[in-house]
Amino acid sequence: MRILVAGGGGFVGSHLTDRLLDRGDEVVVLDNFSTGRRSNLDHLASTAQVEVVEHDVTERLPDLGSFDVVANLASPASPDDFARIPLAILEVGSTGTRRLLDLALACDARFLQASTSEVYGDPEVHPQHEDYVGHVDPIGPRSCYDEAKRFGEALVMAHARVHGTRVGIARIFNTYGERMAPADGRVVNTFIVQALRGEPLTVHGDGSQTRSFCHVSDLVAGLTALLDHSTNGPVNLGNPDEFTVRTLAEIVIEMTGSTSRIDSIPMPEERTGDPAQRRPDISRARDLLGWSPTVSVRDGLAGMIDHFRSAESVV
Ligand code: NAD
Ligand code: UDP
Repeated sequence: MRILVAGGGGFVGSHLTDRLLDRGDEVVVLDNFSTGRRSNLDHLASTAQVEVVEHDVTERLPDLGSFDVVANLASPASPDDFARIPLAILEVGSTGTRRLLDLALACDARFLQASTSEVYGDPEVHPQHEDYVGHVDPIGPRSCYDEAKRFGEALVMAHARVHGTRVGIARIFNTYGERMAPADGRVVNTFIVQALRGEPLTVHGDGSQTRSFCHVSDLVAGLTALLDHSTNGPVNLGNPDEFTVRTLAEIVIEMTGSTSRIDSIPMPEERTGDPAQRRPDISRARDLLGWSPTVSVRDGLAGMIDHFRSAESVV
């Protein structure tokens, strides 16, 4: 297939691009590199089946030819970005998504939207099933991202209802792995960098909040299965293994052999509304796609720690 990966220069998008190329697809990466990195694609420099186009998807799209699939992963994703570039996040979730949907319709391509567990907000139902409609503050510091993603889902469904566009929605839960930008402020990469440098690990609050961490190799297997399927979703993709943030810090210290201590610091202002708990119910992904994650957090962290030691020059 010929596949457009918008946001393909980012952490998840570059791994999805690798997976699609590996199985013989042709990929066009469309990215403005606002939070992604060109180095994520360096290893593909001599691969003929991939083309990289630098472009902001909120602007009129260049003529890129026809596609069988349009995958929309273009969006900043770290809570640190929510305070830094909130308007850009709302713009890419709305205008950017609309432009890519129109392209998919024009090509009769399947459209895959990378949505997020943030659509559930600070959930009052645990674990989160796709039928749960969420608990989101529409005006708080996280709202630029949460509501952009909720609007994105609404747009995708309206496009399908009005035009018959073939769409799918992946609700992605916290994902980690090689090529996360070391300084983007997300928790797994932050803790690994701090541990490798011997700096204190900065646990926000008392660290009792939970997340469920999925290795990127599992996630892209799920995204690929969803892209090949015809369901419009939404489908949760994540690893149901749930940890407190404090436990994650302890595991990272143990696995890196670091002498770092753990510091509790106040929850940063821009993270007000930080979800207290998050875990995906993945029964739909299991039943529909035959997908479930296979990489344990310890195995996934081992690879990521090696990568950060050797490739990211963080020490
Ligand atoms: P990332 O920041 O590494 O990747 C996002 C990519 O989108 C970057 O390469 C960035 O440059 C690009 N981009 C941003 N705005 C753009 C624009 N206007 N035009 C073109 N490109 C643009 O983040 P990621 O973790 O790889 O996330 C990828 C997608 O998955 C995002 O849509 C995110 O919301 C979603 N997601 C990720 C996670 C996670 O844990 N990684 C969880 C839930 C959802
Ligand atoms: N977190 C933390 N220390 C950090 C970065 C994050 O304790 O240096 C916490 C953060 O407050 C949140 C959790 O780790 O409770 C996950 O944060 P991340 O930014 O990775 O993802 P998200 O908040 O989007 O789930």
